[in-house]
Amino acid sequence: MRVYTADIKPEMEGQKVKLYGWVHEIRDLGGLVFLLLRDREGIVQITLPRKFVSKQVFKLAKKIRRESVIAVVGEVRREEKAPGGVEIIPESIEVLNEADAPLPLEVTEKVPAELDTRLDHRFMDLRRPRVQAIFRIRHQVLQTVREFLSNEGFIEVHTPKIVSTATEGGTDLFPISYFEKEAFLNQSPQLYKQVLMAAGFEKVFEVGPIFRAEEHNTTRHLNEAISIDIEMSFTDHNGVMDILERLVHKVYVDVAEKCERYLNWLEISLEIPELPFQRITYDEAREIAARKGEEIPWGEDLSTNALKLIGEEIGGLYFITDWPTESKPFYAMPYEDRPEISKSFDLMHDWLELSSGAQRIHLYDMLVESIKSKGLEPESFGFYLEAFRYGMPPHAGWGLGAERLIMSMLGLKNVREAVLFPRDRHRLVP
Ligand code: ATP
Ligand code: MN
Repeated sequence: MRVYTADIKPEMEGQKVKLYGWVHEIRDLGGLVFLLLRDREGIVQITLPRKFVSKQVFKLAKKIRRESVIAVVGEVRREEKAPGGVEIIPESIEVLNEADAPLPLEVTEKVPAELDTRLDHRFMDLRRPRVQAIFRIRHQVLQTVREFLSNEGFIEVHTPKIVSTATEGGTDLFPISYFEKEAFLNQSPQLYKQVLMAAGFEKVFEVGPIFRAEEHNTTRHLNEAISIDIEMSFTDHNGVMDILERLVHKVYVDVAEKCERYLNWLEISLEIPELPFQRITYDEAREIAARKGEEIPWGEDLSTNALKLIGEEIGGLYFITDWPTESKPFYAMPYEDRPEISKSFDLMHDWLELSSGAQRIHLYDMLVESIKSKGLEPESFGFYLEAFRYGMPPHAGWGLGAERLIMSMLGLKNVREAVLFPRDRHRLVP
């Protein structure tokens, strides 16, 4: 007969229930003690009037320390003044594990704490309903992703995270020692998911870690992030943009529908974006930024400041398409008639990049040329290039940062808030 706090309704008046949870708060008014019990679904008030509970239970409630783990058996009573309109009059309280004092961090949010302190004592911080809510919603986001993509005919794959070549030859790699060889933590499943197109799977997705040695601490970069990646054959950039916007839309719909309680904990009312998302080209984006005083030389990436100005004007979820070929990785497919522009896109939320994608180069010679033109060596892409010589279909795909999506959907100020144990330039513990 164990119930969660959220299951207890005023109509259950008189019923006996058992609850497990943590002592969230104690208010001792002498002859009357209020104890708030918190479990993963919420908080309920345990009311102890001296006259109506046993001496032993009353004494225990007076000396128990906050955040101790308890089991309570008691009777449900209607009480309009209590949270949720109910209270429990306990018949027994069992202490399963007593907490030490003082606490390293306040779970009740009476005392605000710096993000760093919160992350240092993350297990404690995660007990806060507001923080729990983020991860309950994160679970739903990933559920929806898997369900949606499976329904679209994608199969889930796992590609290696220990690799010998850099995906994009970048400097932002973590080297590791692999027996007598040097290896790296993979920065993206890009090369492998493309190879799987040559294997004939046609539609694959992966939800997995990417590792990037980002030198600078920003509020949107992690050194270990979760990327939602797809790759799809016999389609182009428009085909995978269509999947991406419908997926993100479905994530919003599901979270709004199934995570109402957690959105309330966060005091968020989620606005469902409209389909299709607006599309602007790189050139149009540059013009908006220029009009607002930020000139971006053609060919360069849009600066954070430019993106802020563009985001201000467009707002919400939108695509920036048709990026200069030189600003995108070697595998992006150029337009046949305008090779200086690529069939590529970024999905943005206001100023924040959520996803990058493109139609890929599937032609061997063109790919080798493109690798060379980026100053990379085709020799170091052996296993990848081989897959393009024996029947590689045309294909396209994207990578969507799970934490960026959650951050922007919930309006979090720092991407670290969306990770249980974030890794950044200075944080390797916990
Ligand atoms: P940015 O320009 O914001 O650093 P990027 O263009 O280098 O990102 P991509 O290589 O396009 O990133 O990766 C695809 C997606 O993966 C990004 O749009 C983003 O959502 C996510 N992502 C990439 N790097 C990180 C990171 N360091 N931390 C969190 N998410 C990331
Ligand atoms: Mn990108």
